[in-house]
Amino acid sequence: MRRTAIALLAVTAAAPAFGQAYPTKPISLIVPFAAGGPTDLLARILGERMGRELGQQIIIENVTGAAGTIAMTKLARATPDGYTIGIGHLGTNVVNGVIYTKLGFDLIGDLEPIARLPANPMLIVSSNQVPAKTLKELVEYLKANQVSGGTAGMGSGSHIGSLAFNAATGATYQLVPYRGTGPAMQDLIANQIQVMVDQSSNSLPQAQGGKIRAYAVTSAKRSSAMPDIPTAAEAGYPIEVSIWNGLWAPKGTPKAIVDKLNAAASAAMQDPAIRKRMEELGQDLPTVEEMKPAAFAAFQKAEFAKWKPIIEKAGVKIE
Ligand code: ASP
Repeated sequence: MRRTAIALLAVTAAAPAFGQAYPTKPISLIVPFAAGGPTDLLARILGERMGRELGQQIIIENVTGAAGTIAMTKLARATPDGYTIGIGHLGTNVVNGVIYTKLGFDLIGDLEPIARLPANPMLIVSSNQVPAKTLKELVEYLKANQVSGGTAGMGSGSHIGSLAFNAATGATYQLVPYRGTGPAMQDLIANQIQVMVDQSSNSLPQAQGGKIRAYAVTSAKRSSAMPDIPTAAEAGYPIEVSIWNGLWAPKGTPKAIVDKLNAAASAAMQDPAIRKRMEELGQDLPTVEEMKPAAFAAFQKAEFAKWKPIIEKAGVKIE
């Protein structure tokens, strides 16, 4: 009798309830764009802090190409055990579900939402070689000249920003696709491309450093991180776009693990040092309630319903 009890105790001690021991090894965080860009930056800030919270390192894996669809396909096919998760945004996890008609999986239904992350308005920026000083002058310049602009591919945030810019101003430019707006920014500084509509976390530090020129921010109100930069509406065009971000796991990841990851992401977002850094980069932080998996899933579905007709109307589709 006694022996059995001891043996039982040993088994229970060696195998704690599933989910409780998690994580016992490093977690891979798939980033769908190149290192040095806005998504990568958010992943690194958050991943480091979440790793401390979870007691395991979070390792960044940049899986680039096709505006994030290669990364999301890899995530959807990964083992749903909590050791592979992915960061994405409005483009990679909503808009691409409309644009890429042959993904082979349901971008909305086949990934498990973990947490909503900060949203980032965009800055309309140009290289310092462009002679325009205001948004109106920039629009005139684009209408009169052959100009190239950077994006991170069809469906990326910078592409959505460009579409909104084109629709509001009637000005177009040749879109040059990059593996992320990190490398595109280097080419903008070097005037290899002349314009970009990019998340402020990537473009604001460069504009503040005088390496590029910022014309307007695509938010309804001026951002406290950049009070001198007018809103696009103030500068003459009603352009409002904000790229919200999020964390997902492969479908089938146990709920206990999703909840643990959510709690770690929430704790990271409540950290005053992280909040300060996010605000300096012009990011709008979600509340703890908005971050919860169910709230985030509902939000993602609503965003899909909102963006589907807009993208279909714009006629962007990739077979
Ligand atoms: N967020 C992307 C990046 O990190 C770019 C984009 O969506 O435009 O490069």
